[in-house]
Amino acid sequence: MKNMTRRSTLAVCALLLLSACSNQETTNAPDSQVAKQETIKLTLAHGWPKGYPIFGESVEDYAKLVEQMSDGRIQVSVDSTNKHKSAFGIFDFVKSGQYDIGQSASYYYGGKDPDALFFSSMPFSMTAQEQQAWFYEGGGLALANEVYAKHNMEVMLGGNTGMQMGGWFRKEINSLDDLKGLKMRIPGFGGKVIAGVGGVPTNIPAGELYQSLERGTIDALEWVGPGLDLRMGFHKVAPYYYTGWHEPGTELMYFFNKDSMAKLPKWAKSILFNAARLTSYNMTTSTFAANAENWNTISSQYPNVQVKQFPPKVIAALKQSNADLLEAERARSPMAQKIVDSRASYLKKARAWTEIGDQSYLESVAN
Ligand code: CA
Repeated sequence: MKNMTRRSTLAVCALLLLSACSNQETTNAPDSQVAKQETIKLTLAHGWPKGYPIFGESVEDYAKLVEQMSDGRIQVSVDSTNKHKSAFGIFDFVKSGQYDIGQSASYYYGGKDPDALFFSSMPFSMTAQEQQAWFYEGGGLALANEVYAKHNMEVMLGGNTGMQMGGWFRKEINSLDDLKGLKMRIPGFGGKVIAGVGGVPTNIPAGELYQSLERGTIDALEWVGPGLDLRMGFHKVAPYYYTGWHEPGTELMYFFNKDSMAKLPKWAKSILFNAARLTSYNMTTSTFAANAENWNTISSQYPNVQVKQFPPKVIAALKQSNADLLEAERARSPMAQKIVDSRASYLKKARAWTEIGDQSYLESVAN
């Protein structure tokens, strides 16, 4: 009886989720191609160390959710970087079909396709809530799928980090001169913006970040926010914690190999995509909670940590660098222009609401 109740609940959940995504493209094989009781076995690679908090854990949760929703008929085996040894190899793994599914951040793959840079977060751009609205309601996810289709992949959101901090710095930044020659781990478009004002951006896998900062291989780094930064120990070697500008709401992404998906019955593909959508929501919530929890710990237990905002002149120079780069991107290709313009027009509309909604609320109740 207990079992029946559990199954009924899951069935209702599955129905609710299916209706939420009824506009998902369906080009799948008919149900008859997979026997009803056959177990579908799929492989997934994510770009984090095994058990990595939140980012890696959410993928383990995804695999469990898929198994539950399919009543055990879909099994997803998850490999971390401990197994496949390639933190930035997820794009190629899924494109080639070496893995059926991947989870990583799209902006790590600007070298594979420069248009992939636009689908994680952009400097001075949308917050998590604004950007999720763009993805789901403003055409963003369709644009991402248009880009990834060229690489034999489909994509779904993978979870948002919320506002990211500007990073941990060994020395205080008082002027633009302090950024010149500064070696900083900062990926994606933010890295290009830093380069535009004379900084030296680099990307380094999660497992090597602390050592790089401790040994002075880099002068600064950005990672995520308190929720993920605290356990990395950066506060021990770089006391200046700057507030955010470059990643105001970074979305992770699930990548699906098109050939693998085409072999699946509709119900299985629907579960895979809707479980990703639900996992994305759950990760977004758990990251916010971890940020609040760990900021409480940092602010109460590590008085050496100094929260700083970049001086207005530095922000103005970064904004100009960003604007110049976006113009160059628009000129690069019609696709880039389409994405940049879509982001800009959605930001304008969404921000007007944020300003009279959240922002006015926060300002009016601040004192
Ligand atoms: Ca980051």
